[in-house]
This record gives sequence, structure tokens and C-alpha cells, in this order.
Amino acid sequence: MARGESLSVRLDGRFMLKLRGHHLICLHFFQGEGYSPNFVEQLNDVMRRARAGEPIVVVQGSDSVCIHCPHLSGTICRSTGTSDSEIREMDENALDLLAVKAGALVLWEEIERKIFAVFPAWYRSYCGACEWRSACERHDSFSGFCDETA
Ligand code: SF4
Repeated sequence: MARGESLSVRLDGRFMLKLRGHHLICLHFFQGEGYSPNFVEQLNDVMRRARAGEPIVVVQGSDSVCIHCPHLSGTICRSTGTSDSEIREMDENALDLLAVKAGALVLWEEIERKIFAVFPAWYRSYCGACEWRSACERHDSFSGFCDETA
């Protein structure tokens, strides 16, 4: 079992997809960049499954992406001394914007339908100082969202 993974196994033996709030927004701009080749490979797999229509469990804390991140220690993000609490606050705000609750089952296409409406508020709150901004800016949709928030 991958570290941090909880015991929610599907009939085919795979773990169910779990995504935390801010990943439900930020992953719309993922294009293959990440902390390491293994992390990117795992993230590509998560996105392939999500886009194929697998149900996603909305979680609080570490998820199917975090378990492959070099900054995860147990279930805590150790990227910086304050990162875990900061990211949890981002998650809460993302879930509020998307109007979904932790524990819910969602489909990626449902979240996609909401992203245009919620992204301007997200962008104003979080994208300005984000370390991944340059990667997101290379995504066509991100540029369009930036125009809307100008
Ligand atoms: S710039 Fe950062 S906060 Fe904004 S969508 Fe990209 S990863 Fe998320």
C-alpha cells in the first residue's frame, strides 16, 4: 500500500481516487510538470483515471496525488513549516467555491463544468504567489481565465 493511502479498494483491486480541494481546481492546468519523474508519472495516471470518469472521493488532507509527493511525511505536508495548515485552508476555500463537501463522490467532468465560474476568485486569492504559476500559465485555459480576472 502506498504511504498515506487509506483502505478504500475497488472491486478490481485498485485504490479509489481521492482528491483534496485545491487539487480539484489546480489540476485542471496540469500538463506534465511536477516534483520528480515518478511524481509526474503517478499524477498522469491519476488524471487519466479522473478524465476517464472514475468516481473521485473528495477528502480532507493528503490524497492520491500527495502520496507520491516527496514533501509528504505521514499525512502531513512538510514543504515548509506552515505548508500543511496553509494547504488545508486552500482546500476548504476550494470546496466552498466548488460547493462540494469532503466525503462526497464527484466526477471530474462535474468539476470541469464549475471551474470557469469559480476560477476568477481562486486566481485572485492564490495564483499570484504560487510556485507553479509559470507551469499553469502555459495552459491555454489559464490564460483565458487570467483575462477574465484582469
Ligand atoms: S497557479 Fe498555483 S494556485 Fe493557481 S491554479 Fe496553478 S497551481 Fe493552482
